[in-house]
Amino acid sequence: MSADVRSTDPELAELLDLELKRQSQTLALIPSENHVSAAVLAASGSVLTNKYSEGYAGRRYYEGQQIIDRIETLAVDRAKALFGVDHANVQPYSGSPANLAIYLAFLEPGDTVMGMALPMGGHLTHGWNVSITGKFFRSVQYVVERETGLVDFEKVRELALKERPKLIFCGGTAIPRTIDFAAFRSIADEVGAILVADIAHIAGLIAGGAHPSPVSYVDVVSTTTHKTLRGPRGAMLMAKTEHARKIDSAVFPGLQGGPHNHTTAAIAVALHEALQPSFKDYAHQIVANAKALADTLLAEGFDLVTGGTDNHLILIDLTNKEIPGKAAAKALDKAGLVANYNTVPYDPRRPFDPSGLRIGTPAVTTRGLREPEMRMIGRWMSQGVEAAKARDDTRLGQIRDEVQELAGTFPLPGA
Ligand SMILES: *Cc1c(COP(=O)(O)O)cnc(C)c1O
Repeated sequence: MSADVRSTDPELAELLDLELKRQSQTLALIPSENHVSAAVLAASGSVLTNKYSEGYAGRRYYEGQQIIDRIETLAVDRAKALFGVDHANVQPYSGSPANLAIYLAFLEPGDTVMGMALPMGGHLTHGWNVSITGKFFRSVQYVVERETGLVDFEKVRELALKERPKLIFCGGTAIPRTIDFAAFRSIADEVGAILVADIAHIAGLIAGGAHPSPVSYVDVVSTTTHKTLRGPRGAMLMAKTEHARKIDSAVFPGLQGGPHNHTTAAIAVALHEALQPSFKDYAHQIVANAKALADTLLAEGFDLVTGGTDNHLILIDLTNKEIPGKAAAKALDKAGLVANYNTVPYDPRRPFDPSGLRIGTPAVTTRGLREPEMRMIGRWMSQGVEAAKARDDTRLGQIRDEVQELAGTFPLPGA
């Protein structure tokens, strides 16, 4: 931790130290989280935070852009090379504003958007009713099947033909299986809709060749940069050339002001890392780890939505374990295993206290854990859930000690 923060603001410095310790001593199983490299951390904590640069490279509204233009161009070029896209915009502040920019680019208020319902695994910004995207636009939502947990494309097609959305989102936040972009493309074509793949969760898997790419099927790709892609908190929009101007002017001046140049630089570093051969190993190891963890959980009697996983994410339905998701997540947090409670499809419980637990392997894979450690985590989760039901805090403390010992042998990359 920087000595400068300690001398200026000891109170905050202590909190930074405590968070570093918390991350070091626990295992992050939240599928949207990761641990960035020291290089990404350094770029995002740089003097670039001092600079205003509204506009785009070569077309700025402020002077002094000699270096900033080169940095943003580097990030854009790397994004284009990594994902094989015509156009990339690296300025969106995060995934939610990136998605909002897509609405601004292609829809008028009141137009119809179609996305996966939030409790089925979609994202708030795909038209869920509490989001601006569900309030200012007419939203229709597709679901997954009760029996399989999977999308029935014939039903999605019927919904699209009936409601005629102008914009269709595929992708989400709690989808444990490979997304069939081609199937969404044919539906979008039938109704003449713009198709967006929101790959926020799986961007790193796609970059590393561990999930099919949507690029040849969709009009726009939206992604965060901080999940499996392992960059700073930020986002990118990628599109075919024909949509480039619409996307760019929606991000700025449509929705945002000055880009966060320190984030842009850190995105450039993360993309450079993702272009290295070792990133492919990381991406495939994430999936191998998730499968190993899923197998252990199944052997421990857990019920997994869709029966398993193809990617980095596992959605557990705890109904048969007779413990709600929130109680399980809180107990596992005490045991040093940090997860999040989540709705499962057709959840009979309320969203703030649902039946599910959502876990994932990106962060632990980054730390270097592999299949043998996944089996340990699966067994600890099972023991933790039993301890929670028995209100056995002593046992949770013992698991925490074991987790901490393991975590100690896999240091954080950026620490
Ligand atoms: C995380 C996520 C977002 C939003 O990202 P924020 O950076 O949290 O705003 C959007 N879409 C999907 C599918 C996501 O998983």
